Amino acid sequence: MSSSLDVDQFYETVIEKYNRHINPSLARLMSFAGFGAEIRAEGCYIYDHEDRKFLDMLGGYGVFTLGHRHPKVVEAVKTQLDKMPLSGRAFFSPVAADLAEKISEITPGNLDFVFFCNSGTEAVEAGLKLAKGASGRSKIVSTHNAFHGKTLGALSTIGKEKYRKPFAPLIPGVSFVEFGNLEEAIREIDSTTACMIIEPIQGEGGINIPPDGYLTGLKAACAKHGAFLIADEVQTGLGRTGKMFGGDHDGAAPDLMPLAKAIGGGVMPLGCLVGTSEIWEATFGKNPLIHSSTFGGNPLACAAGIAALEVIADDGLVEKSRILGERLLLGMKQIHKNHSDLICDVRGRGLMVGVEFSLDEVSELVVPQLLKRGVCVAYALNNPRVLRFEPPLIISEKQIDFALEAFESSVSETSELLATLV
Ligand code: PMP
Repeated sequence: MSSSLDVDQFYETVIEKYNRHINPSLARLMSFAGFGAEIRAEGCYIYDHEDRKFLDMLGGYGVFTLGHRHPKVVEAVKTQLDKMPLSGRAFFSPVAADLAEKISEITPGNLDFVFFCNSGTEAVEAGLKLAKGASGRSKIVSTHNAFHGKTLGALSTIGKEKYRKPFAPLIPGVSFVEFGNLEEAIREIDSTTACMIIEPIQGEGGINIPPDGYLTGLKAACAKHGAFLIADEVQTGLGRTGKMFGGDHDGAAPDLMPLAKAIGGGVMPLGCLVGTSEIWEATFGKNPLIHSSTFGGNPLACAAGIAALEVIADDGLVEKSRILGERLLLGMKQIHKNHSDLICDVRGRGLMVGVEFSLDEVSELVVPQLLKRGVCVAYALNNPRVLRFEPPLIISEKQIDFALEAFESSVSETSELLATLV
């Protein structure tokens, strides 16, 4: 773009098209927060229409584990693009076979089978369907504040009324228990239960970490009654929390594990459900097409997935997440101490860190302040008081320190602003 007028006009045109054709209310929200139009991205940075660069501390809610456009993933996708991007749907796909093998190698317990799809919500849908199909039961136990996706099945298990209510009635037989309360879950899981679905750490619920032994206890309760445990690792999976999977902190192997976001290497959309031979036998064993997806397991996405898993292993990204996560958490705890008037809690594991403000409106004010300082973040969908920090695992110490400095001064300026209002 040649002049600042062109740049402004370009931005206005994009917003106008959002207003006319995509989602006017969302457009208002995004422009109020100060988000520009994204044009390109590289590593830990996103560049907007004015070519301003933003350190991506949001990481696409867990998509950009490898950063943006990781060269090895881009190369794998380009190579596959020149051979065969999409599946003919009748032949065997060697690329899907290779990725399924790799996923089964890194997942815990006897999670040996993989169903490929394109997103987190589809992976959850598959999990709920297979749990119901394999158990022959219909009751599903979920948790308050849970987030599992917004298609009708997954939506039925979201622990937030405001998203469910407008679309009622949803799947019948879903009950909700308090996240982290093992006793309540044990009381709710019974011989009519098909599955309990749980995030090892609630992401959209506000980075909520359950007590030690929670997942192991849930698994035992499910096993006792012949129910299945679904650990939704869509956001926590593949190193985000400083272990390969969020559930690894507890050592609990679930029966079903939806994955998405990071598995596509930050280059392709990819989701999958990983499960046991018992569940596959009881569902696909009876009808191999009982559940399917046209684009699921397409060669382009699978090539990205294989490259992503290789980079995570070769570059030690899980360990990096643990170490750098400690630096980020420690820095945030210090900022909490300095600003205990506005911040009421800081919590996290690995590079999945949440900062909770004492008042609802604060995060809405802090986000534009951070953007002004070149840092991109967002609040948690089910808990807007919590700003979540989920940067790429390739982030450097220097970049973390930059984000911490920007955050501290953003909180200070917000605090001053609020003081003038009272
Ligand atoms: N499960 C979890 C734990 C998630 O965090 C999300 C998305 N934030 C989903 C499922 C849904 O994923 P998608 O938006 O790809 O459908």
